[in-house]
Amino acid sequence: MQISNEQLQLVNGRIKALLNSEHFYKKRLEEAKITEVHSQEEFEALPFSEKADLREAYPLGLMAVPEDEIVRIHSSSGTTGTPVIIPYTKKDVDDWATMFSRCYKTAGITSKDRIQITPGYGLWTAGIGFQAGCEQLGAMALPMGPGNTEKQLQFMQDMKSTVLCATSSYALLIAEEVEKRGIQDQIYLKKGVIGSERWSEKMRERIHSILGIELYDIYGLTEIYGPGIGINCKYETGMHYWDDFIYIEIIDPVTLKPVPDGEQGEIVITTLVKEGAPLIRYRTHDISRIIPGECPCGSKHPRLDIIMGRSDDMVKIKGVNVFPAQIEEILKAFPELSSEYQIRISHLEGKDTMRIYVETTGDVDFLDIAKKVAEKVKSKIGFTPLVKVVEVGVLPRSEKKTKRVIDERYE
Ligand SMILES: [Zn+2]
Repeated sequence: MQISNEQLQLVNGRIKALLNSEHFYKKRLEEAKITEVHSQEEFEALPFSEKADLREAYPLGLMAVPEDEIVRIHSSSGTTGTPVIIPYTKKDVDDWATMFSRCYKTAGITSKDRIQITPGYGLWTAGIGFQAGCEQLGAMALPMGPGNTEKQLQFMQDMKSTVLCATSSYALLIAEEVEKRGIQDQIYLKKGVIGSERWSEKMRERIHSILGIELYDIYGLTEIYGPGIGINCKYETGMHYWDDFIYIEIIDPVTLKPVPDGEQGEIVITTLVKEGAPLIRYRTHDISRIIPGECPCGSKHPRLDIIMGRSDDMVKIKGVNVFPAQIEEILKAFPELSSEYQIRISHLEGKDTMRIYVETTGDVDFLDIAKKVAEKVKSKIGFTPLVKVVEVGVLPRSEKKTKRVIDERYE
C-alpha cells in the first residue's frame, strides 16, 4: 500500500517528536541520519522496530513526551521475559476510543445497542478498549469482564444484550451453554465482536448457527493502541483498518522488502499520530495481506485479510512463502480428512519438496483424495506438493502442541 503525502507528513511529525525524546528510536534515526522522509523510498529506508526494543525500554523508556502528559499505561502480557509498558497521553486514549467506536459503527452497531464486554479489564488493552469505544459511540456498556458464565447468561437475558464482545473461544463456550440450556429464545444478541486470535471457519459456523448472530473480527495489538485498529464490515471481505491513524506495510519476513498488495507477508505498522509511545515500522510478526481493490460497502479505508499465523512459522519453498495455516485452511475444506496433518520439507535431488501427510478412513480412495489435495495446494499457493494419505490414527498425537511442520533441509 503506497504511503500518501498526508501520511508522510504525519510520519515526519512523529520523527520530530522522537528526535526530541529519549525513546530508543531516536538513536536509530541518528544512526540512519534521517530527520525527514519525503517519498515511499525514503520511508522504506527507516529502520524497523521490534518487540525486543520495547522490552529493553522497560519500564518507561518508550515515553516520547514529558511524564506529566501521560495519563495511563498498558502492558502486554509478557509470555516470555520482561513485559512491555506502553504509555498513553490523553489524546492517545481519545484516538483509540475514536478508532474503536468506528469499528462498532462499521459493524452496524449504534447508540441503541447494549454491549456485553467479556474481555478482561486491567493492565492489558482488551476490556477497556471495548468499553471506551462503546461509551464514545453512546451505546450501553455492560462491563462484565471474563468468566462467571452463570452471571454472563443472566445479564444477557435480563439486560437484553444485543452485542457480545469476546474471544472466539469464550464466544463458543457461551454459545454452547445457551444451546445446552435451550435458552436461545431468551437471548437478544444480534452481533458478536470477536478478538483477533486466529479461529477456524468451523468454530465461526458453530457460534453463528447456535446464536444466529453476525460475527465481526476486530484487529489490534497492545503495542499499537490495542484492539480496535481494524474490523470487517458486513460484506466480510477483510478488515478495514484506520489509515488516518496507522500506516500498514506487508513485508517479506526473510528479505524484509515490501511485497505487492495482495501478497502474503508480515504486517508492519507505523503509528501516525501517537504521542505517548510512537512506533515507526513496528514488526508485528502477524501474517496477512492487503486486499486490493474496493469493498462493496464503499468505505475508502483499506483492508487487511484475516491473520493467517505468525511469521516465525513460515517456510520458504521453491521461492514461495508458505504458512502452515494456509495448508490447514485447504485441508479443512475436505470433510473426509481428519484434523491431523504433518508437513515435511526436504531437499531431494537439488529440489525442495513438500510432503503433506493427511489422514482418512479406509473407505476413501487414497489416490483420488491425494490428487485433489495436491491440486488445491497448487491452485491456492502455487506449487504442487506430494500428498501422502494414511489411515486415521497413524500420525503422531500429543497433548501439548503437536509439531506439524518438519523442515528436514536444516536437520
Ligand atoms: Zn467494507
